[in-house]
Amino acid sequence: MMIDWKKIDTVLLDMDGTLLDLNFDNHFWKEFVPLKFAQLNNISINLAKQQLEPQFKSMEGTLEWYCLDYWSDALALDIAGLKSEISGLIAVLPHVIEFLEKLQQSSQKVMLVTNAHRDSLDLKMETTCLQPFFNTIISSHDLGFPKEDSRFWQLLEQSYPFNKKTTLLIDDSFSVLNAAKLFGIAHLISVSKPDSSQPKKTVIDYSAIEDFRELMIGL
Ligand SMILES: [Mg+2]
Repeated sequence: MMIDWKKIDTVLLDMDGTLLDLNFDNHFWKEFVPLKFAQLNNISINLAKQQLEPQFKSMEGTLEWYCLDYWSDALALDIAGLKSEISGLIAVLPHVIEFLEKLQQSSQKVMLVTNAHRDSLDLKMETTCLQPFFNTIISSHDLGFPKEDSRFWQLLEQSYPFNKKTTLLIDDSFSVLNAAKLFGIAHLISVSKPDSSQPKKTVIDYSAIEDFRELMIGL
C-alpha cells in the first residue's frame, strides 16, 4: 500500500499533469501558440518555435510563466481565447473520476491547488466538470507566489489551515514537491505519466503513481 489513509485528513491535488492530461498544455504551448505566433508575425513555424523557446525557458517556475495576461501582452496573442479554441483537447487522466468520487465519500478534505491562471482554471473546470469534487480551489495567482516558492505554502497554510503532518500532496512537478517537502508536508506523491502521449517518466526521489487506482486501496 502506497498510502496509509488513516494518517491523512487533507488531500492537495495539482491540476495539470496530475488530474488532467498534460498533453493539452504541451500541445498548446509547443505547437498551437508557435503556429499562431508564426501567422501573426509572418514567419515560419520553425522560426517561431526558435524564438519562443528561450522566452518560455527564461520564465519557468515564475508566476508570470503561468499568467495568461503576461503571455497575451508578451506575444500579442489572445492566449485565453486560443485556449478555448482547442479546449476539446482538455482531458481528465484515467481513473481520476473514480478516485475523486471515492475521496468525496470519505472524510478527507480535498483542495485543488494549481499554478494555473484563473482563466485557464475556469476553462478547465467548465470543460471537465470536476469542480464539485473540491472543498476549495486555489490558484497560486490568488496568493501571489507559485507553488515552487516556499512563501506560497506559508500563505496557503495561513489562509486555509491544514496540518502538514496529515496532508498528502499529489503533484507531477518535482520543483513543487521539493518546495512542499521543505515546508514540511509529510506525504508527497508524484505522477509518472502526466502526459498520455509521452512515455512514462522515471521518478527517483518520490513515490509515483502511473494512475489513481494505485491510491484507491484502503481509501
Ligand atoms: Mg502539474
